[in-house]
Amino acid sequence: MPMKEIVCKLLVIGAGPGGYICAIRAGQLGVDTVIVEAVKAGGTCLNIGCIPSKALIHAAEEFEKVSHMAGNGGPLGITVEAPKLDLAKAVAWKDGIVGRLNSGVLGLLRKAKVKIVHGKATFRDGKTVEVETETGVQIIRAETVVIATGSEPVELPFLPFGGPVISSTEALSLKTVPKKLVVVGGGYIGLELGTAFAKMGSEVTVVEAMQQILPQYDAELVRPVAKRLADLGIRVLTGAKAKGLSEEGLALTIETAEGEEQRLPADKILVTVGRKPRTEGWGLDELDLDRTGKFLRIDDRCRTSMRGVHAIGDITGEPMLAHRAMAQGEMVAEIVAGKKRTWDKRCIPAVCFTDPEIVTAGLSPDEARAQGYEIRVGQFPFNANGRAMTMLSEDGFVRIVARADSNLVLGVQAVGAGVSELSSAFALAIEMGARLEDIAATIHAHPTRSEGFQEAALKALGHALHI
Ligand SMILES: Cc1cc2nc3c(=O)[nH]c(=O)nc-3n(C[C@H](O)[C@H](O)[C@H](O)COP(=O)(O)OP(=O)(O)OC[C@H]3O[C@@H](n4cnc5c(N)ncnc54)[C@H](O)[C@@H]3O)c2cc1C
Repeated sequence: MPMKEIVCKLLVIGAGPGGYICAIRAGQLGVDTVIVEAVKAGGTCLNIGCIPSKALIHAAEEFEKVSHMAGNGGPLGITVEAPKLDLAKAVAWKDGIVGRLNSGVLGLLRKAKVKIVHGKATFRDGKTVEVETETGVQIIRAETVVIATGSEPVELPFLPFGGPVISSTEALSLKTVPKKLVVVGGGYIGLELGTAFAKMGSEVTVVEAMQQILPQYDAELVRPVAKRLADLGIRVLTGAKAKGLSEEGLALTIETAEGEEQRLPADKILVTVGRKPRTEGWGLDELDLDRTGKFLRIDDRCRTSMRGVHAIGDITGEPMLAHRAMAQGEMVAEIVAGKKRTWDKRCIPAVCFTDPEIVTAGLSPDEARAQGYEIRVGQFPFNANGRAMTMLSEDGFVRIVARADSNLVLGVQAVGAGVSELSSAFALAIEMGARLEDIAATIHAHPTRSEGFQEAALKALGHALHI
């Protein structure tokens, strides 16, 4: 059978948040666009990442809330019978959300007149890929190619995935709650999922090689999370290294911080030690593109070292976050359509959906000092915030970092229940070049946790009103 051939202006490889946004925007701008996806539209984020994890976290939170009331009723005076959790049903509900979003993305691509090709793309050269589709091999030639193939979980050679050793992907589709769960890696993915399973009734142990969980955050931000993990009965072993599966019975062997060997019995061992760019098995090596470590090297227009080949999203490095991939995708589409764009973002906010949540945008105090800034820091605790009190969630704070000379806001961090929703205010302030006075002078609705942002600015200016 002769090979079919498509010629287009833009070819996007991978329909994760980076790729699908790039294709939709290009389509909107009238660029003749083809997108190839090997698995499912929406990529890691929508199918096995951001969305399903947040669904599971929500189910776990609700269950824990009710379980808590079943004890002594708590301060709200509500008592209930001991609740039961049907995890298979919760997972089916999560799959329903994923399915809805999945068809939504396909619908948006079609509306933007993007041609969707299902199958795995392999490079023949920098302008041509071959796709194995259900109906045969499809050749696609394009003027510009965008690589958006994302990332995959890092596997530990001495603890390969399979059987009881699972990655986040399997953890999001378990049908029953494991009695004993050991999480290897105390980064945000491990802690989000570990916390959710603890709330659903698992006995959870977290093994982290560094001296602190969430090692990329400062100790002050992590403290409320560590406290809550302890309250939930999660055992956290820092400075401890996983060694491999134990020979006798199902257990993980570790070396503790003190250098002792220990066996941690487990029904499931969840390995979340990081993610790596998906660069292998599809002919990328043929192109010999420049790399930064394992990631593809890009410039401020997401151009790789080969003319006409862009790269976006997780394959281009940290922070490996969906909204970074989307922003890059949108920018590249506009560049392909002839608009003048460069990466000029002042910050990429990051949220850790632990309990409580952590938000960071811009520079932390240490990062600002390391960059040579003289700074002013204002911090406001949620135990002085009325809304936090009415919601029984007073742990945490908002912290603003500003230049001492001009009061320009360099960074905002927060830890506390529901602070993920404050991330947009923080990012907007930084992106708009706000000064402490701008935030202090903005009326923040009462009673909301967002008042903590205004109060932190007032504190930095030396005249907080509520502390
Ligand atoms: C459990 C978990 C929770 C997460 N939570 C969050 C969160 O709360 N917030 C956040 O911002 N980020 C989160 N992330 C990270 C987020 O999922 C990624 O940053 C994001 O998906 C990256 O988007 P991308 O477009 O670069 O790649 P991906 O989403 O990985 O998409 C790449 C796509 O390319 C396809 N592909 C690869 N190779 C080929 C090929 N040769 N041919 C055709 N198709 C191919 C893949 O099938 C995939 O669909 C989470 C990740 C995980 C695992």
